[in-house]
Amino acid sequence: AIILAGIMALAMAACGRSTASTPAGSTATKGTIGVAMPTKTSERWIKDGDNIKNALESAGYKVNLQYANDDIPTQVTQVSDMVTKKNQVLVVAAIDGVALKGALKDAKDAGIPVIAYDRLLRETDAVAYYTTFDNYKVGVQQGESLVKGLEASSAPKPYNIEVFAGSPDDNNATFFYKGAMSVLQPKIDSGELKVRSGETDFNTVATLRWDAATAKKRMENLLTKSYSSADVNGVLSPYDGISRGIIAALKGAGYGSGGKKLPVVTGQDAELESVKSILAGEQYSTIFKDTRKLADTTVTMIQQIASGQTVTTNDTSSYNNGVKVVPTMLLDPVPCDKSNCSQILTDAKYYTADQLK
Ligand code: BGC
Repeated sequence: AIILAGIMALAMAACGRSTASTPAGSTATKGTIGVAMPTKTSERWIKDGDNIKNALESAGYKVNLQYANDDIPTQVTQVSDMVTKKNQVLVVAAIDGVALKGALKDAKDAGIPVIAYDRLLRETDAVAYYTTFDNYKVGVQQGESLVKGLEASSAPKPYNIEVFAGSPDDNNATFFYKGAMSVLQPKIDSGELKVRSGETDFNTVATLRWDAATAKKRMENLLTKSYSSADVNGVLSPYDGISRGIIAALKGAGYGSGGKKLPVVTGQDAELESVKSILAGEQYSTIFKDTRKLADTTVTMIQQIASGQTVTTNDTSSYNNGVKVVPTMLLDPVPCDKSNCSQILTDAKYYTADQLK
């Protein structure tokens, strides 16, 4: 009967419904959890993978952790393999939010619940839950930080800004962009901010695979095209890796030396190299997302699914994946700049003071 209840709980969770039957403390089976991560080229995903693995192992699960080198077919194969191996629950941070839908259908058919991790899985009913940071809020914070930095700078008005967005196949990229533009667009319309290149459309400013080299190239082109007789004062960047590419292009064009100030450049993820850049006065800001909390939330969801308890979510309206609204647990992002990054990150024990030297 216990096994039957467990199977029913998993099957219902796979359909996106939570059950509230098995008494807390019951011994739900602890099998292997499949964890699919996009890439090791970014520090944040390495931390995410490590955090989830540690948290799951401490909770008594085995972990099948896979990275896909930002290659979509590799990730499809990895997820299919997790289904073949009958992993108990799948935790997926997709490269492309849509490309996995075939593999996820197989997971659903096999009664394996799927949790979308940080990035929404789209065009599928096989995703049971989603856990992420409030992505629209991240964008708002990036936009606000850009404006704050510009107002604190000595740049003359109107401020010249350029806009970068993330990978168009990552649902988060649109949320970040829309959040940021909700702050910036009214100021562009009023003439307070000027985009000399004229490039603000999401598809034009998106950066495939969040790639730093692609962003560097686009920044170089923008500087050549639109800034031979004016300086750029601010750049909206959605992610620290992209910010570093942008800053490299700017330095290559003489910004940051000889009295030519680097523009205000935003970011995201509080990657160590970018935090150091912020403390050194180069990158202006980042958004700290404590990925340890995301890992803990994921483990809690897995435990709740496995024991048939109600799965805790706090948002049931924001994330429509094209087929269903996915019940979501949203965490809070925290913006930081030179004035408070050190304090925030060391208080949270995300980095030690030594690491930030
Ligand atoms: C994540 C961001 C990250 C970006 C690039 C997004 O899906 O939410 O934290 O900066 O991917 O890796």
